[in-house]
Amino acid sequence: MERQINFLRERQMLCAICRHQWAVDLDWIDRWDQAKEMCPGCGTTCEHEDSPRVTVDASDVALVDGKVAQLSWYHTSTQPDWPTRDFDPAAEFTPEARMRMGGDKRFAQWAARQCVKALHVGTYEAAVHNMLRRICNQADQGRQFYLYRVHLKSSVVVRKDWLIDPSDFMGDVGLAEVCPPGVDVARYLNYHEDPGRISLALGREAIDCVQQVAIPLPDAWDDEWVRDAVASLDGASDTPAPAPGKLSRFLPPSSPRAVLGRELGASLANRLPVNLRGKFTWAITFAEGEDPKQWAQRTSNLCGLIEGPSRVLAALDEAEVRVV
Ligand SMILES: [Zn+2]
Repeated sequence: MERQINFLRERQMLCAICRHQWAVDLDWIDRWDQAKEMCPGCGTTCEHEDSPRVTVDASDVALVDGKVAQLSWYHTSTQPDWPTRDFDPAAEFTPEARMRMGGDKRFAQWAARQCVKALHVGTYEAAVHNMLRRICNQADQGRQFYLYRVHLKSSVVVRKDWLIDPSDFMGDVGLAEVCPPGVDVARYLNYHEDPGRISLALGREAIDCVQQVAIPLPDAWDDEWVRDAVASLDGASDTPAPAPGKLSRFLPPSSPRAVLGRELGASLANRLPVNLRGKFTWAITFAEGEDPKQWAQRTSNLCGLIEGPSRVLAALDEAEVRVV
């Protein structure tokens, strides 16, 4: 079962001090993060230790135990065969890297912990947000990403209630920490990606099958934008020139084309929800020497993940169903 995709949906805030709960939009949360808003109940701002935080929406279908396995869930990964069977986290490490991590014994302990890490799936919106965050991460720049649609086994046992986002205090969470024996799936409140909605921590065995598409999709999302962007970029010189005036001491030389590319990217980002703009702008930064057409198509396509999700779902519908 597919849920309606809406990056702009209202979020619920809950104040831990006065217990006031109220609905806000993403622009409100953006102002809140800058200490420009306060709790309507008690006047607390984000600077207080127990300040209000986003919470679940009581009408979220993912809170209904019997519905969890019926819903479509999403994940983004650079692994082309996620969730990888016999995943070997040690494979990418050289002997030198193992030494840096404390030698063979400590490395083996670390690798064993990685194998029993929980997998994470969430809403479509959370998966797209997660991918933008990872593209901005230096280690993942330029890598091929895949968007996965995940179908759970109908027999999965879902843990009662929901947990606070476990990645809030640790990057990785062990499966046994969130799914005790007899439980296959734990729900948690996602604070960071699609804030306020439910994500799942689960083991590979809870997954029935997946479908995947390579991101970006082959075609541009907004042909007219691509045409205009390419025409403008082609008309701008690609020879780097020093920054004007005193700035030349601090900034590396940029070509007029790269400066224009960054301006075009920033104006496209302004069409997007406020919580995605910064990461999107970073993810599509125009690099010196980049091909204008390739850049514009990729940029438009990434924008389309957010502006036109039905096109992405249609591509997933066509994708092969891979039993896990
Ligand atoms: Zn309050």
